[in-house]
Amino acid sequence: MTAAYIALGSNLGTPEAQLKTALQALEQLPQSRLVSSSPWYVSKAIGPGTQPDYLNAVALLDTDLSPLALLTALQQIEQQQGRERGERWAARTLDLDILLYGNEEVASPELRIPHPALEQRNFVLYPLFDLAPDLTLPCGTPIESLLAGCSTEGLHAFGETRDPGL
Ligand code: ATP
Ligand code: CA
Ligand code: CA
Repeated sequence: MTAAYIALGSNLGTPEAQLKTALQALEQLPQSRLVSSSPWYVSKAIGPGTQPDYLNAVALLDTDLSPLALLTALQQIEQQQGRERGERWAARTLDLDILLYGNEEVASPELRIPHPALEQRNFVLYPLFDLAPDLTLPCGTPIESLLAGCSTEGLHAFGETRDPGL
């Protein structure tokens, strides 16, 4: 099995419920086992216009699905939860991105792994670090050093107005 890290994000349709349902759906994926999921974070939307804040988390899945089969399965879960595709980075009920798939690098039109924005996004790096503080990216960069260069702007732990740990 391969360890795949999945980013979850929601800023529509009761995000807490969306993330809970999505984690249950990840548990049900064929040829896969949901190993763990991170604490939840609240982040400011990066998309166009004024949008509600996002709720973000990362899950670790052990899987025998290929990267493309996993992407298709994740898109089905997004569909089940009412994801509508409109403008780029528009508000959405659920976004599931493959951050990492073992040490594999994929560069096809429909799938890029590691996720190209992984290194720039605090709402992905923090929960990923929570799950796997010793993780090293396929390029050899430890997540710890990415985190050191990443601001916490717009990010706080879910359930707290300001996370003293951040
Ligand atoms: P971003 O990728 O910047 O986070 P987004 O998540 O809003 O933006 P989507 O509209 O959800 O983008 O997806 C656009 C396309 O990105 C998908 O149809 C998918 O084919 C492609 N894609 C490429 N790499 C990945 C990946 N690692 N995980 C998920 N989708 C990916
Ligand atoms: Ca995304
Ligand atoms: Ca996406």
